[in-house]
Amino acid sequence: MTNLEPPVIVWFRRDLRLRDHAALTAAAQTGRPVIPVFIFDEVFETLGAASNWRFDQALATFGSSLKKVGSRLILRKGPALTVLQELLAETGATTVYWQRAYDPDRVARDTGVKAALKARGVEAKSFAGALLHEPWTVQTGQGGDYKVYSAFRRAVWHRLIAGELLDVPKLRAPNTWPASAALASWSLAKSMNRGAQVLAQHNSVGEANALAKLDDFTTNRISRYQAERDLPASDACSGLSPFLTWGEISIARCWAAGQKAAHQGQDGADKFLSELLWRDFAAYLMWHHKKLATVEWRAEWQSFPWLKNADHPHFQAWIRGRTGVPLVDAGMRELYVTGQMHNRVRMIVASYLTKHLQMDWRLGMDWFADCLTDWDPASNAMGWQWVAGCGPDASPYFRVFNPETQRQKFDPQEHYINRWLAEGRSTPEPSALSYFEAVPRTWQISADADYPAPIVGLSEGRAGALGRYETWKDSR
Ligand code: FAD
Repeated sequence: MTNLEPPVIVWFRRDLRLRDHAALTAAAQTGRPVIPVFIFDEVFETLGAASNWRFDQALATFGSSLKKVGSRLILRKGPALTVLQELLAETGATTVYWQRAYDPDRVARDTGVKAALKARGVEAKSFAGALLHEPWTVQTGQGGDYKVYSAFRRAVWHRLIAGELLDVPKLRAPNTWPASAALASWSLAKSMNRGAQVLAQHNSVGEANALAKLDDFTTNRISRYQAERDLPASDACSGLSPFLTWGEISIARCWAAGQKAAHQGQDGADKFLSELLWRDFAAYLMWHHKKLATVEWRAEWQSFPWLKNADHPHFQAWIRGRTGVPLVDAGMRELYVTGQMHNRVRMIVASYLTKHLQMDWRLGMDWFADCLTDWDPASNAMGWQWVAGCGPDASPYFRVFNPETQRQKFDPQEHYINRWLAEGRSTPEPSALSYFEAVPRTWQISADADYPAPIVGLSEGRAGALGRYETWKDSR
């Protein structure tokens, strides 16, 4: 490396792809050597077990992708600013580029890093690419922020999106690579224990798989999306969320593919585009309301008497998939085995926890954060606040999903339930049995045990929830 050609550092985070990456492309366009870097800092240290496992795989796959194009992923651990300063000193780089993030922890970190680097004369620049619309660019006629999804959707539907479709850039390697930590030394997957091998059977990883998934969805499945997206046993949904979460595919590319399908007149394409906008809306809400994941968005709900004890037997039955309500238990087991849960079932299990069991939405949100491979702070918080009735544009608290009515409507043949429940079946499905291989032995549950009786009757739970709501309302 000569100082005449100082390299450009590209700081990767949840954007582990080569295509549609404005920061990487801009770095390549300087004509200077490019050093891709990932920093395991305190923001990543808070990831849940399944997220960590998925992220470990994502980093390994992305490192291999970079190798295939003659580059490398340099791994470092420590506070981001310290690590970047060390790398700048080691490599002679004078420029750091990255793709922007929007949740409060990462915004705070990035703002501090940018200011400190600029103060040292470093060219520190962030780029769009994680969202379709930069949150500060979408405003109501009065200059405020949207609180309701349908109005947000109307405002952005015909707008140009923030990200561009870009090919894999040609990356120049530096003469000397800085040292990299070994990914294995971070032991990211260790908290999954027994579950890791089971998760691996249900998760594909990396940009190539993401592109193939998008292609398969828009070619073969999108036409069923509108009609079947609420049926948890159907494969009509895209399955793109983990890839979007880790940035292995750009939202711009998903949007472009959805638009192409819409122009071809494919049923379901507009619905798919609308769902992609829910992801943008979640990030938008979190950018405007930094406490979306910590306090009730509707201030009056902050006094609601949720049950908050994580040791409560009802909460423990919920996380273990042993509530005695088949659709709820099936969903909780799908979550544990695959790191995913169908969207309709996410709403049902969240409603059951916050209404029938009257438990705090944050307990459920945190459990999801520990188990989801598509965990996204904004979508998770928005989803939980929406179902609990305390979020913006929320489903009202008194709208209590009845899991049995939902089963009759969305899983009438019980294909989904049979996929995930083993107890009492003469020949349980392998997926249902794999749950018992994945869960901690300390849970002491077995496929041979009897399926539990409901921990709370559905009518009793509904009446309890509404009673608590009325008492709270009267006391305000
Ligand atoms: P598709 O139906 O194919 O939709 C395409 C894409 O649109 C998704 O990949 C996702 O990026 C986006 N999308 C769809 N629905 C939503 C939605 N309601 N909110 C935000 N984005 C959406 N999604 C996450 O990505 N991470 C989470 O941590 C998360 N937590 C949730 C928690 C609760 C309580 C609820 C009710 C929903 C949550 N969701 C979350 C949203 C949704 O359930 C998932 O995005 C969806 O199930 C992913 O499956 P898919 O990729 O097949 O979705």
